[in-house]
Amino acid sequence: MPATSDDFVSLSKTGSRKLPTPPQQKNHGNFIVSLGAMCAWLAPKAEALGVDLFPGFAAADLSYDDDGAVQGVIIGDMGVDREGKEKDNYVQGIEIRAPITVLGEGARGHLTKRAIKKYDLAADADPQTYGIGMKELWKLPAGRVKPGHIQHTIGWPLPSEIYGGSFVYHMDKDRVAVGFVCALDYKDPDFSPFEAFQQFKHHPMMRELLEGGEILSAGARAIVEGGYQSLPKVEMPGAILIGDSAGLLNVPKIKGTHQAMKSGMLAAEQIVESKSSQGFDARLRNSDIMAELKKVRNIRPGFHKGLWRGIITAGIETATAGKLPRTLSNHADYQQYRKRNGHRFDYEFVDRDLPPRDRLASVYFASTEHDENQPIHLKIVEPDVCFTRCEEEYGNPCTRFCPASVYEKVEDEGGKRIQVNAANCVHCKTCDIADPYQVIEWVTPEGGSGPNYINL
Ligand code: SF4
Repeated sequence: MPATSDDFVSLSKTGSRKLPTPPQQKNHGNFIVSLGAMCAWLAPKAEALGVDLFPGFAAADLSYDDDGAVQGVIIGDMGVDREGKEKDNYVQGIEIRAPITVLGEGARGHLTKRAIKKYDLAADADPQTYGIGMKELWKLPAGRVKPGHIQHTIGWPLPSEIYGGSFVYHMDKDRVAVGFVCALDYKDPDFSPFEAFQQFKHHPMMRELLEGGEILSAGARAIVEGGYQSLPKVEMPGAILIGDSAGLLNVPKIKGTHQAMKSGMLAAEQIVESKSSQGFDARLRNSDIMAELKKVRNIRPGFHKGLWRGIITAGIETATAGKLPRTLSNHADYQQYRKRNGHRFDYEFVDRDLPPRDRLASVYFASTEHDENQPIHLKIVEPDVCFTRCEEEYGNPCTRFCPASVYEKVEDEGGKRIQVNAANCVHCKTCDIADPYQVIEWVTPEGGSGPNYINL
């Protein structure tokens, strides 16, 4: 549906003030679509053109030739139990080879992460930085929705030092998509992005919109925010990176789909013209895609010193189209936590009663499914760290930043441990990014497992 109007609103705990809409967030000429629905629409069209799709099969690893070049992907084995033993329905994963492998896995793709490490692709880039985006699709009482209207907010319930805000897309059939994004470089390890999202829904302006409605679906996903200065080298022997695997999202626009599509087209041109991955990095860096990111490169790091300094930086960058001869640096999110030394924020949170009640109730709306009897796909590679260091220094933030309550602190006869409720995972990748010791590794579960984001 065409976008018809935009609002940009600053919130206090009980009040709201309209601000001029930043140019990057003016949506005239854009369309509001559900990416879940768009992919379902696109799939048969791709197949009609001769593209083989393998839904239900997850690429678990990269395959390399004798010279160390990527030669394709390895599909994960099916039918393996929790202890790693073969079940009756065991099927060994196959290898799918390709002359050029194009990695477009979204933010923090697990194959991309391995490729970046193996080929040292990020050696000349700033650290990548991320946010977590949470979204709910609501059906509201008739007459309340203004189809085509888009609203963004900044301010409450986030304190100035946490970068983020909300979006509300008014859709057809009395539906609104309500979402909230928090940068993952927040300093307070006691902060919970999910709770901030739920608080936002209880602002008087939002409560008035949502009360009496029902949630149809919900989900969460990491968003890549590093942009221009965090772009890794996007070619390696036998493979290239596109879309959010490369980190092409335009943060002030809060949009990456157009960049993903353009980089996919560029990859197609590269493969047809040169039949090699070599040269794709230069092709991408000389494209409109990177010109767009260069113009806004200082906006995200401008918020490292708080909301209002960030807004001033954003104003300067917008007025000068990014032409000032400076590039602010990005930092690694997980290194920004402050140790728990008694300093606590007052988030001015309110009592809440709108659904979902808690994170587990939210998981229900993500329709996530994992066979419980399969290897846990969230590996805590150094579990000792959880209680020898993390508990005291940061209070185990994994129990709060995961939007699906996957990590739970339990104490039984065996002592304290982090219980990993992997079946709840909505594959947002936040834990892989935000764990302060980087000891959580997200690996692919059995093919077909995971959330089912209907119309989200
Ligand atoms: Fe996201 Fe990790 Fe929680 Fe899964 S376990 S929902 S990837 S934070």
